[in-house]
Amino acid sequence: MSRADLAALQEARLLETLPFVYERSDLINSIWRTAGVHPRDIRTLDDFRERAPFMSKDVVRQYRAEHHDPYGGVRLRDPSRLVAVMSTSGTTGDPALLPVTDGVPISGLGFSRDFYEIGVRPDDYVFIALFTFRGCGWEMPQRLGAVPVLFDHDASEIDRFCRWALELRPTSMFLLSGYLINTFATEAERLGYDLTDVFSSIKGVIYGGEPLGTRARATVSSWGVELFDHSALGDVAWAMECREHDGMHFPEDLAFVEHLEPGGRTPAADGELGELVVTSLDPHLSPYIRFRSDDLVRLTETRCACGRTHARLWPVGRLGDETIVNGRVVMPVDVWRGIERVDATSAALFQIIRPQREVDSLRLRVGYDESLTTPVSEIRDAVVAAVAAELDIEPDVELVPEADLLKLGPPHKIPRMVRS
Ligand SMILES: [Zn+2]
Repeated sequence: MSRADLAALQEARLLETLPFVYERSDLINSIWRTAGVHPRDIRTLDDFRERAPFMSKDVVRQYRAEHHDPYGGVRLRDPSRLVAVMSTSGTTGDPALLPVTDGVPISGLGFSRDFYEIGVRPDDYVFIALFTFRGCGWEMPQRLGAVPVLFDHDASEIDRFCRWALELRPTSMFLLSGYLINTFATEAERLGYDLTDVFSSIKGVIYGGEPLGTRARATVSSWGVELFDHSALGDVAWAMECREHDGMHFPEDLAFVEHLEPGGRTPAADGELGELVVTSLDPHLSPYIRFRSDDLVRLTETRCACGRTHARLWPVGRLGDETIVNGRVVMPVDVWRGIERVDATSAALFQIIRPQREVDSLRLRVGYDESLTTPVSEIRDAVVAAVAAELDIEPDVELVPEADLLKLGPPHKIPRMVRS
């Protein structure tokens, strides 16, 4: 669909969604009343951009506390029928509950397309190993007629996973994290599996949770696996790479996405850093209307080499993740690239230690692989040099065994920013 036709479709769906949600969500109703705006004031996408109030994660949390509403006001009143409850992964605080109504899991339709892009077809097996993101992950391949097989996102499952992969020959897996990649690398070898055999039927695996480093991607491609990086689209939908692996497409017929100056109302330039603000275009889904995701992304509407016109984004970090070291902005993903290059710290388990956002020096706590015989002082020197090469800032590095940091995680990810 051309960008112009897409905008017309978005406008029609938005105008249908706004009054529907305004009538049925106490949270949206209260936000819009407070702002003095009514859905009838919005006739075009431009009206929406100019007048619609924003909703933030804090407002949802506040609503939850004040109204003793476990859903923070995002569950629609009748006629929606609650059929399941999902939750977000809780990266930046308490996981949020996501009600699933009328059998439509949030963004389910959009995500099924991504499985199709990977090559999943009816009757194929798809292995599902979700981490703390609780929800109907199995339903997306099911909608294509594929058959989900469920696993825990845990080291204890590697044996069962490998055995069944050799027997059932799945075509895809959802999902691998940095944690699970490292676990596969060590456990499968210990158990005597050859991962190139285990994954030989797999056409592509969806990756998620944290940034994907070049080293992790190389490890997985040595097993013959093509990874498709994906990210949440502000609790409304998903974004996932196509075969070009040049940014993540998001379903613009299901979500109206704005890319604004962080914390502001002005659009960020195409290709530049901006804050992701998302509006659901399906009135039967949860009523996220102009939801500030706190996600910082680069975003482009230019046509992808794959031919799709839907825009693409590259996640950069979270609003608030920027550490200012002597006036220089440092994002965790920049530190990541340096740390994963050193053999003993290739798992990129690290924390940025900062009592406040602006600091004089970059302090890092980095996990190292104790099974290697490299002296700790040598590892530290290598990490300092690798991060300095990436950032042009020489960090103070405290090394700790990887196991100590993994204890802090759920376990697929650990807190990256700590005060001490
Ligand atoms: Zn593409």
